[in-house]
Amino acid sequence: MQTELIETTQARDQFLSIVSHELKSPLTSILLSIQSQERILSAINSINLSSSEVLSSSKIISKEIRTFVSIIDSLLDLDSLLDVALISEGKLLLNRKRTNLSTLINNILLNEEEKLKSANIRFDKSIQKNVFVFIDKLRIEQVIKNLLSNAIKYAPGRPLNFIFSIEEDNATIVLSDKGPGIPTGYDTKIFDRFERAGVTSTVGLGLGLFISKEIILAHHGRIRVISEAGIGSRFIIDLPLTREKD
Ligand code: ADP
Repeated sequence: MQTELIETTQARDQFLSIVSHELKSPLTSILLSIQSQERILSAINSINLSSSEVLSSSKIISKEIRTFVSIIDSLLDLDSLLDVALISEGKLLLNRKRTNLSTLINNILLNEEEKLKSANIRFDKSIQKNVFVFIDKLRIEQVIKNLLSNAIKYAPGRPLNFIFSIEEDNATIVLSDKGPGIPTGYDTKIFDRFERAGVTSTVGLGLGLFISKEIILAHHGRIRVISEAGIGSRFIIDLPLTREKD
């Protein structure tokens, strides 16, 4: 119990330090920008003021404010935080039923089509028909949506390929993008709690893949990434076709 308590405290401290860092860095940038704007404005009449300097300074301020707002949005992603709490208490319970995963995938892709389009992603799919698995529909949907939203976030404007087929004893999903890829050494780490692979220009708490991994493990499946930095990422999910006992 004591080990559990130490782990919980460490996780909480790690979480708070990440949150505090994420909140403070755009604020610091805003502050520096405002200070520079003040210096420029106070020099009016005394030097040749370039209005484009004021403009670019204002642009930085508004960009950082937008970042700040999206950080707050991601912090308010209480669903993820609740899932992490359930996982750490061992209470991620599944409601597994025999499901046509092919139909589920097609419906998800149909619903996400607009988002992919607005991210300028050219999307190809190959879905094997009538593949039945014993799954918690909502949880598997959550995992697939998470992978798609990561592709939108990290590989906008790049082609994306979705393949669903039976491979040996598994129903296998392969999602390949041509984005920045995962830096060497991070291919297993990114599935850990709060882990991000050094992406500074995007906002996130590094929980999506952790939750996805836990959901897939609870289904006795496997999720992994094969990637080369600069080339792209291929996320692979294997879900057993046979109905096992929980
Ligand atoms: P978040 O997106 O909130 O950081 P995730 O757990 O979904 O959390 O992802 C963890 C990390 O994995 C991301 O921060 C990013 O570094 C990396 N990552 C995930 N998907 C991709 C992708 N498609 N391309 C490149 N990097 C990715």
